[in-house]
Amino acid sequence: MKFITLGSESGFARGFALGKMIKDVCIHNLSFFKRRLAEEGLTLEYGLRLALENEKVMAEHFPELLEEIQGLAEGAQLPYNHILLETAFPFTANASPKCTIISAIGTTTTDGIPIVGRNYDFLLDFKKCNQLRIVTRKNKKFSFVGGTITILGVEEGLNNAGLFIGDAGWEPEELPSSRGLSSRQIMQLVLENCISVDTAIDFIRQTPKFANNAGTCYLLADKKEAVIMEMGLTKCCLRKPEEDILIASNAFLTPIAEEMKPSELTAFTRHDFAKKYLQERKGKVDIKSMQELLSDHSIPTCTHNEINTLRSVIVKTNERKMLVADGNPCISKFEKILIPT
Ligand SMILES: [Zn+2]
Repeated sequence: MKFITLGSESGFARGFALGKMIKDVCIHNLSFFKRRLAEEGLTLEYGLRLALENEKVMAEHFPELLEEIQGLAEGAQLPYNHILLETAFPFTANASPKCTIISAIGTTTTDGIPIVGRNYDFLLDFKKCNQLRIVTRKNKKFSFVGGTITILGVEEGLNNAGLFIGDAGWEPEELPSSRGLSSRQIMQLVLENCISVDTAIDFIRQTPKFANNAGTCYLLADKKEAVIMEMGLTKCCLRKPEEDILIASNAFLTPIAEEMKPSELTAFTRHDFAKKYLQERKGKVDIKSMQELLSDHSIPTCTHNEINTLRSVIVKTNERKMLVADGNPCISKFEKILIPT
């Protein structure tokens, strides 16, 4: 895993520093995108056209993001348009992530403080792209630590206000035509800009999203509460905790499910297993039990296949640190990473 520290310099300088450090990730991911386009019978020009439509929306709403992408492209010595390509992935209604995010709040935990555990599962080949970005705030924004295998944005993270966000979605029936930011870019902006679950919900609703981020299940948790935003083709539905337990496992459990392809059965069994595990330990859930749950092989929650658990993360939202395992949580040691102030 690469540990990448980014300071409070300008957007361009930040992008440039990142680009220099992740040139290998960019090359690996760009060849993956080109392969995926070809597999789906699409040309590179088609993907670039989608990306340039996203760029127009970014130029209007978040011009500073484009400065960062310019810097990244120069730092990695790669074409700017090719870096933009990632904003349009998945290019069709087809992606197969298998992640689990488990949150325990209120009466479920030992001290009433929310705990979140998350396994990031994707193609084993991407293990070498694992990064942990430790980002110091600039202007009036927040600092955060975020994990990702991508070029732009993060796949989960915690900021210094105690807000967590991560995604564990599934494939939509179709990809809507709306343009804007990818879910990874949205998560980074939420960490930089939002202080609480409520402000993050408003931010996600208002921000223009590529294909409405359809198929994404955002799990948000702050020092008090947790909620899931299930993103559909044009709208989103909120899912609240039941018995102070809330789990995202690639299954849609609100009316948004009608707009998604049927989830694999394992998504429901992982959900039910985690729920039962937490119910049986009501009032006793702590970091140790979360670690045990993330390492479970009976369903499994910790996977050792072509789709593999690449990274595992545990946070308590009132503590400015993230526990991160590089690889399967059953064997990799969790390291403590502090969130900068
Ligand atoms: Zn394992």
